[in-house]
Amino acid sequence: MQARRPERIAGRQAPSAAVLLLGALVLTACGARPTPVHEFQFFAMGTLVEVTLANVENAPAQEARRAIEGLFRRAEGDWDAWRPGALARFNRRLAGGRPFAVDADLLPLLQGSSELSRRSHGLFDPAIGRLTELWGFHRDESRGRPPEPEAIAALMRRRPAMSDLRWNGREVQGTNPAVQIDLGAYAKGYAVDLAIAHLRGVRIANALVNAGGDLRAIGRRGERPWRIGIRRPRSAGVLATLELGEDESVLTSGDYERFFMYDGKRYHHILDPRTGYPAQGAMAATVISRGAAEGDAAATALVVAGPSEWQAVAHDMGIAQAMLIDGLGRIHLTEALRPRLRFTIDPERGIPMDMDPKP
Ligand code: ADP
Ligand code: MG
Repeated sequence: MQARRPERIAGRQAPSAAVLLLGALVLTACGARPTPVHEFQFFAMGTLVEVTLANVENAPAQEARRAIEGLFRRAEGDWDAWRPGALARFNRRLAGGRPFAVDADLLPLLQGSSELSRRSHGLFDPAIGRLTELWGFHRDESRGRPPEPEAIAALMRRRPAMSDLRWNGREVQGTNPAVQIDLGAYAKGYAVDLAIAHLRGVRIANALVNAGGDLRAIGRRGERPWRIGIRRPRSAGVLATLELGEDESVLTSGDYERFFMYDGKRYHHILDPRTGYPAQGAMAATVISRGAAEGDAAATALVVAGPSEWQAVAHDMGIAQAMLIDGLGRIHLTEALRPRLRFTIDPERGIPMDMDPKP
């Protein structure tokens, strides 16, 4: 089956120099009226953010571009635990162990992610910030080798978890010094949701916001629905394409986004909060959800859940449409998603495992 070329590939792509040089604005005036399509892109939150607006005049499109870029800039400062900003301040105060009032902007992220953590059976758990740091996945350059097993074991004895946060209204108190919050599996989806909310607020009803594979689309691309591609894990190609409904999000997490090889083994950035080691058993998970933030958390949780638990976790997180690619390249789909995907390979045969150019 030959899939048509999708607008967007869901999956983080390293921004090429060309993309960075193009800078903030690429305007594709797609023919004359009635469907002007504006596209722009910028680099934020460690990834390439691409925004496509349909049926919008030039002036409001330019304004939206400025607003969305500003929003992502603030998000990357405030919600990254390793940059000076709101989350870093929060983590310092949490470590102090005294109750304190949480910033109004940060509060919904913490409360939303706590709830999703609970529903994920604790497999999505932003309380693992110290673990992320120990593995070195908070930086772009990899550590190159796993941390000492004793260091992991010492942290795991204290089992950092979101449930260690004691809430009283908008006040919080840390009860476990091993807890540091890392919103890396949630904040990008949340920023995408904020961008969509902004667009709706200025009456832009047809848009696609894609933050490195974390995307949400509303309305249509002019005459037809938005069409996206789901990236094939560990390779640059498209695995399947999908047409989106009026308001849908598509989120993918995988073991190929950030990883290093050591002694012939892959160590990737999605950590299992139960073991302290990179999750085993799945190379990627894709979910379709209403909001991007909840989908972001769910995609991460499904990678941790792996082939034995993913269906139960998806169900409890309210996700009906999901795909898991297990460690052997086999494709598992929920019944609700199966008929919507147009695969570029035979899904029954899975991903050919001999094709692992960058393992
Ligand atoms: P990406 O950011 O590449 O789209 P994810 O959404 O899966 O991928 O987020 C991965 C990031 O989330 C990691 O780099 C780390 O900061 C954090 N993280 C890793 N494992 C977990 C987990 N089990 N629960 C919550 N956050 C996690
Ligand atoms: Mg995620």
